Amino acid sequence: MNIDIRTISRDPRDFDYTLEPGWWGHEEGDGQVLGLAGPLNVHISVSKAGTKYLVDGHLAGRIIIRCDRCLEPYQRDIDAGFSFFLIVTPSPSEQNEIELLEDDMSVELVTDSEIRLDDIVREQIYLSLPMKCLCREDCSGLCPLCGTNLNMKTCECLREKGHPGFSKLKKVKFQGE
Ligand SMILES: [Zn+2]
Ligand SMILES: [Zn+2]
Repeated sequence: MNIDIRTISRDPRDFDYTLEPGWWGHEEGDGQVLGLAGPLNVHISVSKAGTKYLVDGHLAGRIIIRCDRCLEPYQRDIDAGFSFFLIVTPSPSEQNEIELLEDDMSVELVTDSEIRLDDIVREQIYLSLPMKCLCREDCSGLCPLCGTNLNMKTCECLREKGHPGFSKLKKVKFQGE
């Protein structure tokens, strides 16, 4: 959904809608977010604040993302509020001033007179992700040698190359039998 920025005044305009799982396309390059696991409820409110626009919102739903450690998809609840200023890209003479603001996470630039709500939602989904996405806290990840997903099964690599203590234990056990 796109909003014509000229329709925004100081009175906040509210947009409430639901995105269905099919909304998330496959066009995303880096693949961290794989899609929606169910409907995503979106609330966004936009108002004019001087020369800027204040965007406030909230997302609630469930997303499918890839585990950083074992690379398997898993589901994660999203319940994220956000708030930032939008600045319509000014004339080139004002560009320098704006570059200073770009470091500030709470400022976003739009290049034309439209606010694309879907782009905001997509970006906020990414911003809601933790530094490390793990399918579970003790995810064992992949074997660095053979690539086996160690959550599902074990492999022999680390047993043979790895821990000397481990092989000693194994021997003792055999001798005792
Ligand atoms: Zn994992
Ligand atoms: Zn292995």
